[in-house]
Amino acid sequence: MKEAKLRDRVILITGASSGIGEATARHLAGEGATVVLAARRRERLQHLAEEIAASGGRALAIPTDITVDADRRHLVEHTLHTHGRIDALINNAGYGQRGPIECVPIEAIRQNFETNLFSLIALTQLVIPILRTQGRGRIVNVSSVAGRIARPFSAVYDATKHALEAISDGLRGELAPFGIHVIVIEPGFIRTEFLHVAQDVSRSVLERAEPYAPFIADLDRWYERWQRWAGRPEAVAAVIRRALTDEPPRPRYAVPGHAHLLLALKRWFPESLFDRLLRQQMGLARHLSSS
Ligand code: NDP
Repeated sequence: MKEAKLRDRVILITGASSGIGEATARHLAGEGATVVLAARRRERLQHLAEEIAASGGRALAIPTDITVDADRRHLVEHTLHTHGRIDALINNAGYGQRGPIECVPIEAIRQNFETNLFSLIALTQLVIPILRTQGRGRIVNVSSVAGRIARPFSAVYDATKHALEAISDGLRGELAPFGIHVIVIEPGFIRTEFLHVAQDVSRSVLERAEPYAPFIADLDRWYERWQRWAGRPEAVAAVIRRALTDEPPRPRYAVPGHAHLLLALKRWFPESLFDRLLRQQMGLARHLSSS
């Protein structure tokens, strides 16, 4: 039944060249959707489109840097020109800037907001009129548990996702009268290229964050330990499929189990207790007690 709902739906996915976006494209194409793949790495997209076509699916690869206005316009126009419609937009492209706020250059902060938030809004603005004219559609915004819980040394990225949560909540109310659903996905730790990219992007900041070096070293060990609990991108893809087919969809979906747990703790614990727990878990508490 649910598969029938996705058959021939045209679904635009940003960040489709790896991780969650790639798994989602595969999953949705496997259920009959026509997927439009957007990201910067052309060969990766092409390869995925060919793989999907070889297994009987339909995929269109459109190399796109979502921070570039002309690319965003081309993405939407090319999709419309080829398929004549867009049924859903999955705003998934994003990366994480790490580092103590004191040390992250303001330009790097702007860049993280540019990719994770402003470009996402700009692309959404291009797609809304199309969905409105069609009288229905879904916009799925891939946020994070970090959209509700801000962590030391990741607060720039976390702020982009907190802002995305607010934009999504506002948009949900604005678009409901037009039959357009806006849904937020809140993944916990997922095994993708995300950490590797975050580390790459943040290397120069982390190397120059001298006074914070011991905390960052402990934090890195914590992230390594957490990898054991990391979920699979396919699990997020399955939840995105639900967001596209549930009638009506929920405003938010968290995935996997540890994401539900973290959000519940954040919701029900007193703030100071939650802070303490988080610092303890992240290996930062011992620095506090020794100071
Ligand atoms: P990956 O690094 O594997 O994938 C990120 C994707 O975003 C890539 O396809 C990348 O493609 C694309 N991207 C980045 N910048 C741009 C850009 N300027 N233009 C177009 N595409 C871009 O990470 P994930 O799959 O894990 O991340 C997907 C989403 O999930 C992100 O929004 C992330 O914040 C969120 N998330 C991830 C979690 C995790 O633990 N992995 C947890 C919670 C949320 P390319 O480089 O080819 O352009």
